[in-house]
Amino acid sequence: MTRMAQRVQQIGTSIFAEMTALANAHDAVNLGQGFPDFAAPDFLKEAAKAAIDADLNQYAPSNGRFRLRQAIAQKMVEQYGYTADPDSEILITHGATEALFATILGLVNPGDEVIIFEPFYDAYVPAVRLAGGVPRFYTLRPPDWAIDADELAALFNERTRLIIVNTPHNPTGKVYTQAELALIADLCQRHDVLAMTDEVYEHIIFDGRAHHLLATLPGMADRTVTISSLGKTFSVTGWKVGWIIARPDLVQAAYRMHQYMTFAIVHPMQEAAAVALETAATNSYYHDLAARFQARRDYLVTILQETGLTPILPQGGYFVMVDISELAVADDVDFCHRLTKEAGVAAIPPSAFYHNPADGAGLARFAFCKSMGLLQKASKRLSASQFLRRIVMMSGSIESSR
Ligand code: PMP
Ligand code: GLN
Repeated sequence: MTRMAQRVQQIGTSIFAEMTALANAHDAVNLGQGFPDFAAPDFLKEAAKAAIDADLNQYAPSNGRFRLRQAIAQKMVEQYGYTADPDSEILITHGATEALFATILGLVNPGDEVIIFEPFYDAYVPAVRLAGGVPRFYTLRPPDWAIDADELAALFNERTRLIIVNTPHNPTGKVYTQAELALIADLCQRHDVLAMTDEVYEHIIFDGRAHHLLATLPGMADRTVTISSLGKTFSVTGWKVGWIIARPDLVQAAYRMHQYMTFAIVHPMQEAAAVALETAATNSYYHDLAARFQARRDYLVTILQETGLTPILPQGGYFVMVDISELAVADDVDFCHRLTKEAGVAAIPPSAFYHNPADGAGLARFAFCKSMGLLQKASKRLSASQFLRRIVMMSGSIESSR
């Protein structure tokens, strides 16, 4: 008999941990779990070393180090024209993960409905369920992951409390347009619904597109919780520094959770994060970051096409979805497991990102947040793979792609 409490019995092992373990067991190139394998910028590392030398060893203020809250406020004004008071409208959290948990647990009552776009980042649903909320799903469909206004409107009702918007989107790479955000803003206001945005890939955006903030749309500043973090932007996913930006009462709701989940976040890294944001505001860091990722996107997409696969070009983020529905495999799990074991390249089966796993069975997610050397290694393995050649040939797509 399990000794687990009921509230965690339904929660499985995260697909990221599972696929990384499988990749390690088979010495596969890990294009599954999304974490960069290249170094953080020197200005960030130097700032962290200096903060440790300065003995910033004791608890940071529970809502976060002031210099970091100030740097975030500054960035929000400069980049998006959004004004936030660093004292009452910003909270520093243990990565975006804690931020979204604290926000959901702080705002959702039992029985409240929460609208989630799927495929979804895997942490949203457990958080909503722990809060006693009821997830309602809007399924984004390949290849364009577009939103149908009527279909979305049909999900809103008097029980709807919150909508979660992740842009740029993991795993599809969709970047929500102004028009899509305006539609969401209109529905939120008509039905008195709050919004939580997950913007951890805000600086990884391609082909000259712009990242738009739901919070800056008319009427939305009062009802939007904006979440982001340092990990993707500065190649420090292991530092777990994130933040929440919202009106004081919404920040307070998350803060009540935060003070007992973590109380305060690792202090020297907050100082380093402040320096990083201040520095990036004065040089071309964000621009160069997007260019570096775009080159990697283009490289991986080309490799995948050359192997006879059908990648769907992402607009942002650092993942590419591949349409495997025509391949001679049982489903995405079968494909990803065999690719890891037989081709030596790991990818994520996206069925883990759908409430009805069958909706993800025809897709596979590859990460390109990797050094060019590692991507080249993956390329060699994919082009030499008998397994891939066989399943592509059996589907007939090798002929049609030539
Ligand atoms: N949201 C999305 C969409 C993500 O992809 C990730 C992580 N990879 C997170 C949140 C978690 O961010 P953090 O590492 O800052 O907790
Ligand atoms: N966000 C990363 C991904 O989507 C992994 C995060 C994690 O391992 N929890 O791959």
